[in-house]
Amino acid sequence: MALFVPQPDRERLDTFCRDLVTIPSCSGSEGALAERIVQEMEALHYDQIRVDDMGNVIGRVGPEGAPAVLFDGHMDTVDVGDRGLWSDDPLAGVVRDGVLYGRGAADMKGGLAAMIHGVGALAGGAHELVHPVYVACVVLEEPCEGLAIRHVIEQEGLRPAYVVLGEPTDLQLSRGHRGRLAIEVAVQGRSCHASAPERGTNAIYEAARFVFGLQLLAPQLTSDALLGQATLAVTEIESRSGSANVVPEYCRLYIDRRLTGGDTEAKALAEIKRILTRESIQADVQVPTFRTQSYTGLEVEALEVFPSWTMAEDDPLVRKAIDTVESTLGYVPRVGHWDFSTDGVYTMGTAGIPTIGFGPGEERYAHSVQEQVRLGDVHAAARVYGRLALSLQV
Ligand SMILES: [Zn+2]
Repeated sequence: MALFVPQPDRERLDTFCRDLVTIPSCSGSEGALAERIVQEMEALHYDQIRVDDMGNVIGRVGPEGAPAVLFDGHMDTVDVGDRGLWSDDPLAGVVRDGVLYGRGAADMKGGLAAMIHGVGALAGGAHELVHPVYVACVVLEEPCEGLAIRHVIEQEGLRPAYVVLGEPTDLQLSRGHRGRLAIEVAVQGRSCHASAPERGTNAIYEAARFVFGLQLLAPQLTSDALLGQATLAVTEIESRSGSANVVPEYCRLYIDRRLTGGDTEAKALAEIKRILTRESIQADVQVPTFRTQSYTGLEVEALEVFPSWTMAEDDPLVRKAIDTVESTLGYVPRVGHWDFSTDGVYTMGTAGIPTIGFGPGEERYAHSVQEQVRLGDVHAAARVYGRLALSLQV
């Protein structure tokens, strides 16, 4: 017997997807987009729609309760940057030969539109959902992945058994990505008059020895078969002294450390501290806290620790996702990983909820001035999401 595949309305989905691209939604300014999404969920007859205190839109189709299937996508985009570098207005929703161009088309308004319509096609009770299916459209993912979906799951009390991320995979599957850790190192020196530097300890010289130690450490970092090697990069450095004639007592460095499989925050910090001890450098090592206000005015914060995550190739969710793509679209998808980071840092990396990535659009267009998505792929993704929501009713 052929499996039932829900068929979202192609024309309405195209229009909605275009609308999303024409509504600017930089991180922290997602309010107007959230309103448009609520309107669409209402038109699709979602069983429940709410906007939480952070401004995330959460739509449910099917009965209340647990376990749930959670489709997760972010509403925010990075800024358009220099408009002169785009061939079309990035907020006009230009469509040419079936391709939608503009900021957010690939990352990830195409995926968001597909999730909303794919799950929406199951609304109305005709498809015997025994468990709830949620679509969470979250804020502030670009500057701090995991922050809003944590709020949705922990504060709103959702109990998902599975999470599907709609970030761009070009209709293939993604089963993980490297994580990220921000590290701030404040090196302490002792100031003195620059005419007699031997009386003090120059914090810049101390920091220079430390940076050299980091360069030696980099090639020795852990490597993982799927995710590749961990990396580190010193990305900012700043010193402080009373004036240009004073030996500085303070030098601060910022390190971007990418965590691969088997890496942890504790391990990464221990590696850094070992260099400081070996070189007898006085320094304070800290993981900074991301702080901002969501568009609703809620103060939010999170430590800048984003764990790596991987799903096993033979995990039941991965198998089910492969089967669903094959039965819906007629090909066996590649199963790979993302270069960028997603909400999976929380759902699988922290909370251990089985998570899979599937979405329209290509990763290489994310954040670029060529950003685009094929509308046919948005529709294909919507059909897969609807079918997957049914397949995961266990
Ligand atoms: Zn994204």
